[in-house]
Amino acid sequence: MQFQQNKPLSELSTFGIGGPARYFVEVDSIQQLQDVICQCNQDHLPFHLVGKGSNSLFDDRGYDGLIILNKIDFCQIEGTEVSVGAGFSFSLLGVKTARKGLSGLEFASGIPATVGGAIYMNAGANGAEVCERLTEVTYIDEQGQLQILPRGALHFSYRHSCFQGKKGAIAAAKFSLIPDESARKKQLEIIAYRTKTQPYGDKSCGCVFRNPLGSGAGALIDRCGLKGKKIGEAEVSTLHANFIVNRTGACAKDVLDLAEHVKECVKAQTGVELEMELRIVPYKDDRFSC
Ligand SMILES: Cc1cc2nc3c(=O)[nH]c(=O)nc-3n(C[C@H](O)[C@H](O)[C@H](O)COP(=O)(O)OP(=O)(O)OC[C@H]3O[C@@H](n4cnc5c(N)ncnc54)[C@H](O)[C@@H]3O)c2cc1C
Repeated sequence: MQFQQNKPLSELSTFGIGGPARYFVEVDSIQQLQDVICQCNQDHLPFHLVGKGSNSLFDDRGYDGLIILNKIDFCQIEGTEVSVGAGFSFSLLGVKTARKGLSGLEFASGIPATVGGAIYMNAGANGAEVCERLTEVTYIDEQGQLQILPRGALHFSYRHSCFQGKKGAIAAAKFSLIPDESARKKQLEIIAYRTKTQPYGDKSCGCVFRNPLGSGAGALIDRCGLKGKKIGEAEVSTLHANFIVNRTGACAKDVLDLAEHVKECVKAQTGVELEMELRIVPYKDDRFSC
């Protein structure tokens, strides 16, 4: 494993934003991931997992610890059973399984995530969520202990998983899918719709806000006339109002200021309090402070 210093986090986020990580390492096996986490514990070094960085806003000052980039990317499909590394592309998994006539993950195609990031966020689209066909997660807890967690032991809700309250790492997962000859057709329809309705050509981190009960955050923001609103180089997408895009060289502060402005306008005009879906990665992680 090659450890680096001062790795620009802007290279690890689809937003293209973030200062340097004090330390950085890529892991491509479960054993490497476990070894790194054990070492961090021995050294009292805070660590943070990154998949594709498609939901992560890094701090302009960077991260004062170790960034672990998950590249555990094996993928085995036997019959309807899928066993996959947490660093495998979630979008590619949706395409591969649909091509084999397996249904359950068609919605994944076009979501620029890793499998681990998608489980952590309980990613979803088109009325489906990642937790639905999940059967097992291989997890390394923050002390470095490996655990095999059956689906029944895990809690998920809208864009929420029990992993969000823990500081370990998802290493691998298993899914059980359903044979369906129309899976590929459905997956192609999903990707065609996505590319028409979401700003794929721009740097973004997907939806900034969770959808409030009974309405879409994007529709509320649009109703407040905020499409195209800009602070610094961060702009509310003119295509999908729940996306903030990095025009040229936006910083994290631009994004946070714009998100705050959007929240305030929506609250004032509709009475709805929007909640962030985007994960903010702070510069300092206090896990080892007393
Ligand atoms: C164009 C675009 C479209 C999108 N469309 C959708 C959509 O339709 N539906 C949807 O739900 N989301 C969507 N997103 C948001 C994003 O893709 C998801 O939230 C995704 O689940 C993030 O995965 P990631 O691997 O990029 O995670 P990252 O951004 O790398 O990480 C997100 C969080 O997960 C944690 N994490 C990542 N990997 C692990 C791991 N192995 N173990 C433990 N913790 C981990 C990180 O520490 C961080 O807290 C979209 C984003 C973009 C840019």
